[in-house]
Amino acid sequence: MNLTGAVAVVTGASRGIGNAIAEELGRGGAKVIVNYAGSQKPAEELAEKINQTGGGGEAVAIQADVGDPNDAQRLMDQTIEHFGRIDILVNNAGTNIDKTLDKLEIEDWQNVIELDLNGCFYTLHAALPHMTEQGGGAVVNMSSFVGEAGNLGQANYSAAKAGLLGFTKTAALELAKSNITVNAVCPGFIETDMTGAIPEEAQEKIIKTIPMGRFGQPEDIAQAVRFCIENEYMTGATLDINGGVYMRT
Ligand code: NAP
Repeated sequence: MNLTGAVAVVTGASRGIGNAIAEELGRGGAKVIVNYAGSQKPAEELAEKINQTGGGGEAVAIQADVGDPNDAQRLMDQTIEHFGRIDILVNNAGTNIDKTLDKLEIEDWQNVIELDLNGCFYTLHAALPHMTEQGGGAVVNMSSFVGEAGNLGQANYSAAKAGLLGFTKTAALELAKSNITVNAVCPGFIETDMTGAIPEEAQEKIIKTIPMGRFGQPEDIAQAVRFCIENEYMTGATLDINGGVYMRT
């Protein structure tokens, strides 16, 4: 898909990976919805940056908890109000509550599954009628190498991210006839607030397991997401961007 003038909804775009994706798509000339949950100021600052950068990109920040089906619907309704169509959906918003199974509470399980897995269905459910009517679209789901490999203390998160890979493939199969591509990206350890919460000593241990010897940057993932959108023949694929860590797990 050509990004110029295309309308993209990026969930969880106020910080981290989503922020870099929204910026990359704006730079490519897309009209971007910068979705956020609570970080209004960073989201509005990013929208302002995209509007001022040139290259034809435009942006608007919209608050919505995409783990809530009503909010996900409102997000798409407001996107239509602002830009009149939806061409691209990047399901990036995610969270983690890391505990080993003996400490993991029902609520910890539900909260992570609700946002990281169910939320991706809620947004697609609301965006799909528009994409179908328009004659095409591109969906990118942010999974994780943890969904492929598992990880100690992340049963809820790895279940959500693995579920997202199955969802991606089935959606790709069903929606190909509507000219909608659906792909997943599996980052390794990327430098954001999410990995910043890992104690320094543990981070050092992790880095020793990464063949590239460092965490990745949000821009590394943003480039992969842009590729998924621009390539019109790739669907049902999983892109691994992880510095080689998956080979060591
Ligand atoms: P992050 O720095 O913690 O940022 C999370 C983003 O999601 C923020 O913009 C946040 O908005 C938003 N968000 C949280 N809850 C939300 C909700 N209910 N509705 C809408 N937005 C919500 O995370 P990140 O590291 O950039 O991760 C982004 C995605 O990549 C996640 O799906 C994560 O699982 C995945 N991932 C990350 C890594 C990594 O190493 N960082 C690796 C593999 C996969 P507010 O600022 O408003 O709270």
